[in-house]
Amino acid sequence: MSRLRSIPSVESLLQHPDLAGLAERAPRPVIVQAVRDTLARLRESLRGGAASMSPDELASRARALAEASLRPNLRPVINATGIILHTNLGRAPLPEAAVEAVQMAARGYSNLELDLATGSRGSRGAHLEPLLRELLGAPAAIAVNNNAAAMLLALNTLAAGREAVVSRGELVEIGGSFRIPEILERAGATLREVGTTNKTRLKDYERAIGPDTGVVLRVHPSNFAVVGFAERVEREDLVELARKKKVPLLEDVGSGAMIDLRPFGLPEEPLLKESLRDGVPLACASGDKLLGGPQAGILAGTKKLVDACRSNPMARALRLDKLSIAALEATLRLYRDPETIGSAVPALRMIAEPASAVRARARRLIASLGAERASRARAEVVPCTAEVGGGSMPLARIPSFAVALSASGGTIADLARTLRLGAEPVLGRIESGRLLLDLRTVDRRELPRLVAALHTALDGKRGIG
Ligand SMILES: *Cc1c(COP(=O)(O)O)cnc(C)c1O
Repeated sequence: MSRLRSIPSVESLLQHPDLAGLAERAPRPVIVQAVRDTLARLRESLRGGAASMSPDELASRARALAEASLRPNLRPVINATGIILHTNLGRAPLPEAAVEAVQMAARGYSNLELDLATGSRGSRGAHLEPLLRELLGAPAAIAVNNNAAAMLLALNTLAAGREAVVSRGELVEIGGSFRIPEILERAGATLREVGTTNKTRLKDYERAIGPDTGVVLRVHPSNFAVVGFAERVEREDLVELARKKKVPLLEDVGSGAMIDLRPFGLPEEPLLKESLRDGVPLACASGDKLLGGPQAGILAGTKKLVDACRSNPMARALRLDKLSIAALEATLRLYRDPETIGSAVPALRMIAEPASAVRARARRLIASLGAERASRARAEVVPCTAEVGGGSMPLARIPSFAVALSASGGTIADLARTLRLGAEPVLGRIESGRLLLDLRTVDRRELPRLVAALHTALDGKRGIG
């Protein structure tokens, strides 16, 4: 146990030049905690029979711990997965105009709930509703925290204590935690399933609708497709039936696409505007999927139904904060110009970019690696497929190009890990034993950061194996 007595004191280790030098960048309590943790680990390993450590070694470990705890937990990463709306990586990157609006709203005061014309209290919804009405052609609209919140609010408003009629083919789970039956239950509604997984007919709905029906729900099964014998009731027919039976119809269109993406080779995706134009009295969608804005849920439709949702006390708990309102307003404003929307919204730009431009970026990346590094990692440009992601368009494949790297030294999983853990984390995907860095989701302006991260990761591997 004499070795335990050789452990330096916290005070003496704090005097070490490595740690004293850190004092300019790190608050003292952070450094002290790092030293304590380092010494506690040493004590632990000495008890386990390990050899002691020099003060230099201890100081360097404490410094690394302190530096790690100074790094923000939420950090930028380079998305080289080729998945455009990657839910784990924050879905849609915001348009530049939205970023500026967020900064404005964050930095100072704003007229969030003040009517500047009268000087009296205003509504935070007033910044979004006129734009949503204009873009969607709807009489009324509100925005809440996300699409799950929009569904919760609408279902609770229309069907608490009553039945929600849904096709069995639409009882989907989206994003691992959003399940239609569970949201329904939490909204206080009883699920009334109709039809089967692959076929639901108008008659099935007709039979289920009765005095207990609070809402008929139609859900876009964004992230799955039934292939083979399938039958779904047309939207127009459901609109007509709900009208005849005098029950509200709620449609969850999912991705919130505002423009037709078929010109870019993607499948048809329901548009909020079309749902409303077809006579659906209340429709909802996400703000951070194909709309390309901040996390939000949009509810639009008749004044009567939207007002009912608006005055539900639950709306207060689900409302948007000022930063999201700023970002959503700025994003929606961009949709006024159909000419520029494809380039102004990053998610749409990434979908629309010609594969040849992606390939050019991949070639540039290899050139920036330098011949020696590139040949060591056997770097080459390969064709691949990118995806929309975010639970949208599961079958859509977007032709893309990646830089493929092979492991030199360790395994390919080691290389992926090194890149993920770097100062500038890079996420790619492993395919057939190679690491693919898909350039479709890497912006031109991110290239220098990606190059620097690759230099560090590949050079760190030099000499191993
Ligand atoms: C993504 C999605 C949701 C959940 O939306 P969030 O904005 O993530 O809450 C709900 N319904 C459908 C059909 C979806 O595609």
